Amino acid sequence: MTRNMLQFLRLGQAMPSKRAADTRKKDFNEIYEKWAEPDAADQSSRCEQCGIPFCQVHCPVQNNIPDWLKLVAEGRLEEAYAVSSATNNMPEVCGRICPQDRLCEGSCVLEQSKHGAVTIGAVEKYITDTAWERGWVKPVTPEKELEQSVGIIGAGPGGLAAAEELRKLGYQVTVYDRYDRAGGLLIYGIPGFKLEKYVVERRAKLLEQSGVKFVLGVNIGTDVSFADLRKKHGAILIATGVYKARVLSVPGVGANGVFPAMTYLTASNKKDLGDKVPDYDNGKLNAKGKNVVVIGGGDTAMDCVRTAIRQGAKSVKCLYRRDRENMPGSQREVANAIEEGVEFLWMSGPEAILHDSDNNATGVRAVRMRLGTPDASGRAKPEEIEGSQFVAPADIVIEALGFDPEDLPVMFGEPGLGLTRWGTLKTDFRNAMTTMDGVFAAGDIVRGASLVVWAIRDGRDAAASIHQHLQGARSAALNELRKAS
Ligand SMILES: Cc1cc2nc3c(=O)[nH]c(=O)nc-3n(C[C@H](O)[C@H](O)[C@H](O)COP(=O)(O)OP(=O)(O)OC[C@H]3O[C@@H](n4cnc5c(N)ncnc54)[C@H](O)[C@@H]3O)c2cc1C
Ligand code: SF4
Repeated sequence: MTRNMLQFLRLGQAMPSKRAADTRKKDFNEIYEKWAEPDAADQSSRCEQCGIPFCQVHCPVQNNIPDWLKLVAEGRLEEAYAVSSATNNMPEVCGRICPQDRLCEGSCVLEQSKHGAVTIGAVEKYITDTAWERGWVKPVTPEKELEQSVGIIGAGPGGLAAAEELRKLGYQVTVYDRYDRAGGLLIYGIPGFKLEKYVVERRAKLLEQSGVKFVLGVNIGTDVSFADLRKKHGAILIATGVYKARVLSVPGVGANGVFPAMTYLTASNKKDLGDKVPDYDNGKLNAKGKNVVVIGGGDTAMDCVRTAIRQGAKSVKCLYRRDRENMPGSQREVANAIEEGVEFLWMSGPEAILHDSDNNATGVRAVRMRLGTPDASGRAKPEEIEGSQFVAPADIVIEALGFDPEDLPVMFGEPGLGLTRWGTLKTDFRNAMTTMDGVFAAGDIVRGASLVVWAIRDGRDAAASIHQHLQGARSAALNELRKAS
């Protein structure tokens, strides 16, 4: 049934139903159910069809949101999918895990006017999940095959988006990854309750069907040299993400039971994928029956606390030195964590990890904070409240303090690869090329730890620049040949 638009006074903001906390915390499946068509159409019909769509402006891939909302409201789902997939290589992933409150939905005029944003992410997920179900998502079939090849290092969202765009143009694309599966943090970082694994796996399969070659379990810089890769391909894209975990520097950090977030999450994700994980099976990386303290306030910390809940932890606490309003993690995820039984110790910073005589962690000694004057980043600086120390019991302590880039010039044996002062790759903002000719970069390795949707945007932009570069090289070579003959 076709619906008229501008229904926001008649219809309220709605999300697909969420599984009850008591049920969902027993498994790693996504927490939202799928929408029925009338519900998705009703929600879409709330859109104001603004002249200047701020949702689109604040979406990193500039999705044509008002257009696909209108098409959903009119029941024209296949066209909605065509519009939505024209600007985004993984709309169903972004619909699930973009922090919409900070991006499209946060800028929706209905949100600003207190009517509640259209739940854009949920509609985007609905459109593409439906497209998969109905067979509208097809592998790429380039109009013509080109001889030139591109090597992509990193099968995360940045690398995969670039691979698809380059295949559309007919390039021969090979993606290299040191993990044994494609997907990067989508597969080994982000847990199934936010993004079920099959959603990522079917994307990787589609790319294979599109002719993209995957070389997995290969560490570039160790198993294959960067120089050899450069000789093999006309252009290289580095999309390696950022993996050097920031660590605590307090007494006791060497105690047994203190883990970086990715060690903990990777083990749990591998278990969810059906792999054998000895350190999970022997209890080391399994929170069952244990007191868990996670230190940090971003998306990674939220994923750790909610994973610990699902593993059957005795207690799960999140220690963060600022307040809830100043947490970098998505507010929606904080609310989900609270519903599932996570206790937040806001305005608290760690002072020491306590341990027994066998060096097994027993707790975190923390101190209460207050927010002082803003620091260089403009955020209020936490200051300790003297004499306010307390102890949170902990058998497992997880450090979720963020990530820095690895030293790529050293890893790749390429001192010519220029870095910024943050250790990310220096690129020309006009064309994503690094300081090495024909070597491009995209995603977290350029921006620092960021978002999936930004990695996709960067991958798309880099693919366009690589195309321009390779076509330029091709014309130059043809001119040379012409001159020589
Ligand atoms: C726990 C966690 C939760 C997150 N949750 C969200 C969320 O809810 N929403 C959101 O938008 N973002 C989230 N993010 C951020 C998001 O996952 C990243 O911004 C995004 O994945 C970056 O994409 P990328 O392609 O740049 O890198 P990655 O996804 O990190 O992929 C890089 C790939 O490169 C490979 N690689 C690295 N070095 C080499 C080498 N030398 N040789 C071969 N392969 C190599 C890696 O194995 C990896 O597969 C989260 C991050 C984490 C850690
Ligand atoms: S990609 Fe992300 S920001 Fe853009 S419309 Fe989808 S959910 Fe919103």
